[in-house]
Amino acid sequence: MPTPSRRTFLQTAGLVAGAAVIPRQAAAAEARPDWPSIDTDVLVCGGGCAGLAAALSAARNGARTMLVERAGFSGGIITAVGLPYFDGIADIKDGRVVVRGVGLELLSKSGVCEANATHLKTHNPTIRNVEAFKVLADKLLIAEKEKLRVLYHSSVCGVEMDAQRIAAVLVANKAGLTRIRARQVIDCTGDADVAAWAGAPTDKGAELQPLTLHFRIGNVKKAPDLSKNCRIALEKAHERGELPMYYGPGVMFMFADDEIYVHGVRVPGDASDPVELTRAEMQGRSDAWAMFAAWKKDVPGFEDSYFITSGPFIGVRETRRIVGQHILAEDEIMATKSFDDAIATGCWYLDVHPNKITTGGANAVPKQQPAPYDIPYRSLVPKNVDNLLVAGRCHSTTRLAQSSTRVTVTAMALGEAAAVAAVLAVQGGTSPAKLDGADVRKKLRQQNAGPVQDFV
Ligand SMILES: Cc1cc2nc3c(=O)[nH]c(=O)nc-3n(C[C@H](O)[C@H](O)[C@H](O)COP(=O)(O)OP(=O)(O)OC[C@H]3O[C@@H](n4cnc5c(N)ncnc54)[C@H](O)[C@@H]3O)c2cc1C
Repeated sequence: MPTPSRRTFLQTAGLVAGAAVIPRQAAAAEARPDWPSIDTDVLVCGGGCAGLAAALSAARNGARTMLVERAGFSGGIITAVGLPYFDGIADIKDGRVVVRGVGLELLSKSGVCEANATHLKTHNPTIRNVEAFKVLADKLLIAEKEKLRVLYHSSVCGVEMDAQRIAAVLVANKAGLTRIRARQVIDCTGDADVAAWAGAPTDKGAELQPLTLHFRIGNVKKAPDLSKNCRIALEKAHERGELPMYYGPGVMFMFADDEIYVHGVRVPGDASDPVELTRAEMQGRSDAWAMFAAWKKDVPGFEDSYFITSGPFIGVRETRRIVGQHILAEDEIMATKSFDDAIATGCWYLDVHPNKITTGGANAVPKQQPAPYDIPYRSLVPKNVDNLLVAGRCHSTTRLAQSSTRVTVTAMALGEAAAVAAVLAVQGGTSPAKLDGADVRKKLRQQNAGPVQDFV
């Protein structure tokens, strides 16, 4: 049995906080090596946009699959933050669908478009109800139960290595600690948790995009200049020292005629550090309530309004990215560089949120909008770890490129591609790094997914 590293145990016990280390807990953990184990072909860590697509795709391709998600539902940003946008699905120029597969399936099964839609009315469609999305995701996962086991309320918290191979992923939940021994692991945690713990090289910008808590306010009356008045009220709240930072605000009657959905909280921080993440969550909550109070006090239409809900999690845009076999760069995106091993198409603009107040919009620089571009398979393949793929916002890119590939539907496309690769690796008894990305692409094409130029 490979011995877990001390670092692993500290992470397992949630005891790495900034630089603080508590050796006593490591010793306690070492005294309990007989945790239960589960064997599987493919383990998907994190059930967000990338992970949900990955789990469905791996199971549908015949692999014994396990999905582990820390929340009590899957969907990631869509359900954990409450965000209804399916950005990345279509070209801004003409609404042409550039992602099929699970991404289009989830949008169509949410009632937004036809299953075989080739064009959409808008390049950034929204689903009508993020709670209904939880149920849809559950149903699709349960439909694969012959091959797929799902563990919600379970956090991936460490790895045991056997040289360059992940021998087991450690999971913490109400059963205590469990080892999951998978032939292939897909890291869809958004933060490259598994990759970092396994020793794959990762990168993290000197500056990270800020975090945002989304929230909803009910019983708001539509009134002239509502958005403008909300913005002015926030400027005043900031001047009074009640609101340190914000953006926009985006104040949208998204889900009902008397309810607004707000993008506006802006909290700097590094969400891969649990202490920082806790601080950001508290700050985000405080700021959301400061906005609500400012609007209720000063903005016509908010007189009888009430705070419905926030989160449940603050949203994280950026932490670690793997430094993989290929680092997709913004100049490749803007030049629409073609890759033989393209496994997905991205199409979102370079969307960086700065760590300062921006009023009206979210960005501080003019929009750089690429044409639909190739994302290579090698950006999912880490270095130095044999049985691991990484999908979602932490795949291998530069910081600026990630600001485009991070959006929801692109993440789903990456998850689906990673799953196809994991299954091919299991079937061929090989590693993701040894697979030819062109074969992954071919397999995706057979299931009506992959890059847009392969659509028939
Ligand atoms: C505030 C905000 C607004 C955004 N706005 C938009 C928008 O309007 N349109 C758009 O398309 N995109 C938007 N994005 C970007 C996009 O939503 C995300 O980048 C996208 O969700 C990335 O998908 P992912 O699967 O990598 O991560 P996520 O969807 O975040 O999924 C990661 C999943 O892993 C789970 N997880 C994490 N760590 C562990 C662990 N250790 N163990 C078990 N589970 C774990 C999480 O609970 C989560 O379910 C926004 C992002 C944020 C934060």
